[in-house]
Order: sequence, then structure tokens, then C-alpha cells
Amino acid sequence: MSRLLLVSNRLPVTVKVEKDTVSVVRSAGGLATGLRRPHERSGGLWIGWPGDVSRLSESQRARVDEQLAELRCVPLTLSASEVSRYYEGYSNRVLWPLCHYMLDRIPRQDRDWEVYRKVNERFADLVAKHYQPGDTIWVHDYQLMLVPGMLRQRLPGARIGYFHHIPFPSSEIFSTLPRRHELLKGLLGADLIGFHTVSYVRHFSGALLRQLGLDTDIDRIIWEGRDVRVAAFPMGIDAQAFESLAGDAGAAAEVAQLRKSAEGQRILLGIDRLDYTKGIPRRLLAVQRVLERTPAWRGRLRFIQVAVPSRTQVEAYANYRELVDELVGRINGTYGTVHNVPVHYLYRSFNERQLAALYRAADVMLVTPVRDGMNLVAKEFCAARPDDDGVLVLSEFAGAAAELGGALIVNPYDVDNMADAIEKALGMAEEERATRMRTLRKQVKSRDVHWWTSSFLDRLQGLPPVSERAE
Ligand code: UDP
Repeated sequence: MSRLLLVSNRLPVTVKVEKDTVSVVRSAGGLATGLRRPHERSGGLWIGWPGDVSRLSESQRARVDEQLAELRCVPLTLSASEVSRYYEGYSNRVLWPLCHYMLDRIPRQDRDWEVYRKVNERFADLVAKHYQPGDTIWVHDYQLMLVPGMLRQRLPGARIGYFHHIPFPSSEIFSTLPRRHELLKGLLGADLIGFHTVSYVRHFSGALLRQLGLDTDIDRIIWEGRDVRVAAFPMGIDAQAFESLAGDAGAAAEVAQLRKSAEGQRILLGIDRLDYTKGIPRRLLAVQRVLERTPAWRGRLRFIQVAVPSRTQVEAYANYRELVDELVGRINGTYGTVHNVPVHYLYRSFNERQLAALYRAADVMLVTPVRDGMNLVAKEFCAARPDDDGVLVLSEFAGAAAELGGALIVNPYDVDNMADAIEKALGMAEEERATRMRTLRKQVKSRDVHWWTSSFLDRLQGLPPVSERAE
């Protein structure tokens, strides 16, 4: 088995400081879970930013480095200015809104490109330093789009994969970016470029044609004498883990409590980072519309919306938070009583066990982003429903909609259409709910995160060496 060098903006760990002791703990996220096995089995390394370690003393820092080395993680530390310009600046203020079709959120003047380029170069240097002939390199996500190209210059014969975890927008949108050529060429340094859906693959190939004049097969491009493959690999979740969590005794007690406190009410659930792509305001308006037009639902709906604090240093997120706060206040002010309010808004995060209980307790799960690369919450909800119950309402603009045919698919820009779907879900017969959920669960369980990891790696490692693919 070839040694795997994983490269991502963040390492899959969190550095915890409690009084004088520091510890490095593994993160729970899907990517970390999916890649843990191949990372460990191949004896490989994971290269990325460990988070802010600037306040640690010298001895604490040495302890962190030791623990990272035990986990086979190689830290790339970022200065405060690099975090603010490469990560918050170019990645989250420019590339994130661009890929989510929100051009008006991009600052008029882009001052952070140079830092983005330089940090990508630092990543490429560090990967090259640890590379051994025969290694497979897998680069992740939009923060590192230039890294494949920079690695190709440093390591012409290396086997390099790249996966884009967010949408790749239509070429009309992508073409607005001043640095479009550099970014496309950066990606073309890879041997295999993966996206979540076939639409994103098409958009990418449209951008190559329009910007670089590359008119080749949709899934195969010849670039600088090399053969580059492009394909869709829809990312999955650790379905087994969510199913077990939802079924364990602790979760069952929590579910019973949630249901008891909502007695006589139906539970609608939303779980998102507080991000302007997630469509929370329109979702709130849809719930409001249901209450407005169908008085019978007043007092009988409990909409639990979890909004995880996110990117709080970026202004657009602070403004968005105010908008959500205001809407929640308005709906609760109009439809609340002294006993009850319709919207239970929680600005905080939960652990997986608590999430599993929420998923299991819900009647209707509302996943209505205005744009989302995949959306794993939708899949987690299905995995947590071995009772074959619960209805998923899903935006057509989430990557997950390409796979999850058992959901009620909605247009998140059409508030009335969403209100219709909510009422349809609330009124759906048990038999239809079960049929839909069985279809959803089959998909989510067969295409889990382990399937995703191995299909990408099998494809990448199955390609002939670069020297044999040169034209
Ligand atoms: N999540 C979490 N705690 C929370 C809310 C969400 O750990 O309180 C996790 C959730 O289980 C999911 C991820 O955050 O795995 C969100 O992934 P998704 O693809 O839905 O959206 P993203 O945040 O990546 O845009």
C-alpha cells in the first residue's frame, strides 16, 4: 500500500489547554473519520494547520508537537496575519461566496490573493519536504487550490489527488474571478480532481473550455502533456456511527425527554452552521407562512433551529446573525404565548450524541440551503432513523439532492413552495414516510464515508504512473 500524504487547511485535531496541561485530541468530523483508516494503515502523514498555538509556552508547544507526531500529523503554523488574509480573507471572503454564487458578498477590492498564494506555497514546500517516492498525495479543498500545481513543479512524477468539498459554480460565475486562470491551472497539477456531483464536474470542464480553451472530454483533460482525470465522488458520512448513537440508551432517554417537552406538538428541526449559504431566513419565513395561513398549526409546531457560531471574524456573518435573530424574535413575538414559542433557536453547537437524539426526535428535518456543496446533516438525519420515520425536506441546491430521491425536494428561494412541503411532510401518512426513509437510508448507508474514501483512492492509485500517461 502506498503511503498517503493528506493535506488540508486544518489538521483533524484540536489542541486543548486546561490550566497547565495541553492535549491534542482527534476531531470527530466526517473527513477525519473517513480518512483515519487509510492514514493510519498506510503509515502516512497528515499535513495542516493545528489551529492557534501562538499563546502556548515553549514547553507546551514541545508537548503539542510530540503528541502531533504520535498521531502522524505535521503542523503548519500560520501567523495571525496569515489566518486573517489567507483563511478569512481570500478563502472565506472571496472563494467561499464565489463558489456559492454570491458575488455581491465578495469585497470589491481583493487584497489577500498574494497571501493566499504564499500560504499555498508554504503548504507545497512542507509536503515536498516530507514526500518519499511512491507516496500518494491527497489535497483537500478550496483553501489549497494552488497546491496541486505547485507540487507538480516540485515533484513532477508524484501521484496527486485533489477534492473540492464545496460547489464548483457555473463557468459564468467562476469567470468573474480575477485569478480564475491561476486557480484552474493550480487544480490541473493534480492527476485526479474530485467533486461531489456531476454538475460540478460539468461546471469545471466548462470553466476550462471558456478560460483556458481546453476542449477535451468532460472527465479527461490533457494538460501540459499529462492526462488529468475529473470525476464525481459524493461524500458520505459514518452512517454506522450515527445509527448506533441514535439507538443507544443515552440517546433514547434524551429523545424521550425532547418528545415529552414538546408534548402535543410536532417537531421541525434545522441544524446548520450560521452561514449565509444555509438559507435559515427563508426557512424561518416558510415556517412563519405555515403558521400564518393554517391557524390549526399555531401552538402545535416546535421548530428547533440549531445555529452553530461560525466565522465570527467575517462581517457578513455578523450581519447574517442579526437578520436571523430579528426574524426569530418577530415570529416568536407574533405566534408565541405565555406558555410556548414556535421557534426554539439555539446559537451553539452540540456533540454527535446530542445531534443524534435531535435527529431521532424530529418529525420533519428542514435542510434548505440556498447553495451547499453536499450537506452532511441531511445524510446524518437519515442514518439516525432506523425506525424508518421522519421526513426530510431538502433543497434542490444542496449536492445531496442529486442522491437523496426519497426527500421532499424544494426550491429554497420559493417560500410558499417550502411552506407547502412542510405541510405535506406534517400530513404525510406513516406508510409513505417509511417507504421514503427506507430509500434514503439505503443510499446513505451504502454510500458512506468509507465508500467515498476508498472510491477516490482506488481511482487515484489505479491510474498508471505519470510517466506512462504523458502524451
Ligand atoms: N455539527 C456538529 N455540531 C453541531 C452542528 C453540526 O458537530 O452542533 C456537524 C454535523 O454533524 C455535520 C457538520 O457539522 O457533520 C456539518 O456538515 P455539513 O456538510 O452539513 O455543513 P458544513 O458546515 O460543512 O457547511
